[in-house]
Amino acid sequence: MTKRPNLNSLTRTELADALAEHKQPAFRTDQVLDWLWKKRVRTIDEMTNLPAKLRQVLNEEFSMTPPSPVGVLKSSDTTQKALFKLKDGRYVESVLIPASQALYGEKSDRLTLCVSSQVGCAYGCKFCASGLAGFTRNLDPDEIAGQVVEVERATGQRVNNMVFMGMGEPLANIKNLLRALELITQPWGIGIGARHLTISTSGLVPQIKKLADHPQQIRLAISLHGATDEVRNKIMPVNKKWGVDELFDALHYWNERKKQRLTLEYILIQGINDSEKDAKILAQKAKGLGAKVNLIPYNTVEGLEWIRPSDDHCRRFKNILMNAGVTATLRTEKGHDIDAACGQLRLKKETEEGIIESPV
Ligand code: SAH
Ligand code: SF4
Repeated sequence: MTKRPNLNSLTRTELADALAEHKQPAFRTDQVLDWLWKKRVRTIDEMTNLPAKLRQVLNEEFSMTPPSPVGVLKSSDTTQKALFKLKDGRYVESVLIPASQALYGEKSDRLTLCVSSQVGCAYGCKFCASGLAGFTRNLDPDEIAGQVVEVERATGQRVNNMVFMGMGEPLANIKNLLRALELITQPWGIGIGARHLTISTSGLVPQIKKLADHPQQIRLAISLHGATDEVRNKIMPVNKKWGVDELFDALHYWNERKKQRLTLEYILIQGINDSEKDAKILAQKAKGLGAKVNLIPYNTVEGLEWIRPSDDHCRRFKNILMNAGVTATLRTEKGHDIDAACGQLRLKKETEEGIIESPV
């Protein structure tokens, strides 16, 4: 069986070309886009102002398989987690983070959605639930953008900020990611401004450079978690391929091309990366880049033995950075009680259904 392309993975140009092949008038392109991204139908048959013949042709050539929401879990701290079932029975999740939980506690109407980019992850960071069960597959562009559409549908709220920090390594799926960025940012699509999107990566150097050359002013966050090769090699296998120096070269390249400041994400793990010396090296590196640092106390993952440092210790680490003149935030945890860290809920669901073996 040949796989029909997804209608809602097409860019405006591709859709226009496909409709032109069927001798359709030019206005049909915007009509179809309106059904897909503004009215947000889930089937071609619902596009009632298209001629029946055209609907039939579209049904023959394309498919529509948006992610189906399985449930929305509310956390006591006001984050909400949505679990989605995909066309092949796999699961991914998104986390909705309201403004009251914003990083600096400022008042704003910001509503952030954290989306997944892959089912599982091949990068195997030693502290991460998504890495535990290995990699299953890339998400298609419509599955990435569809998380926004379906969360908005389920909650009745409008997302205006996005972070690619859910399951998966977005830069390992860069082809589909770039296409999803178009669906998300263009006015004919979801229409969230590029400056409101943050891609997070564990440090894939060639793809960071590629994204740096991308014309949109998207933001980048690096999951650094160690400022030296010694520390990063212990917890992030990706560092053996691209070490800290190479990574920072790519980040300087990024800075030359983009206006927004980089963010360095740094999980604090007791006895691994949380010493005074670690803080000083991190401060120096962050300063060199003009980057801000988000500190995240390690969130316990079942089956892993890492320990989260005390709150006092985390604050002391932060103060070393601040005293060195680096902007640093200590992220209070969001959604801890609903397993909001990377991939944990999906692992539970697939384990229950016997789709994957229990990782622990
Ligand atoms: N693969 C990308 C994006 C997804 S991970 C990346 O690594 O950047 C999203 C964030 O969750 C990363 O910063 C990751 O390091 C963090 N994370 C993973 N496991 C965690 C844990 N146990 N506690 C706290 N943060 C975790
Ligand atoms: Fe993959 Fe990111 Fe988790 Fe590492 S931290 S295993 S790159 S999802």
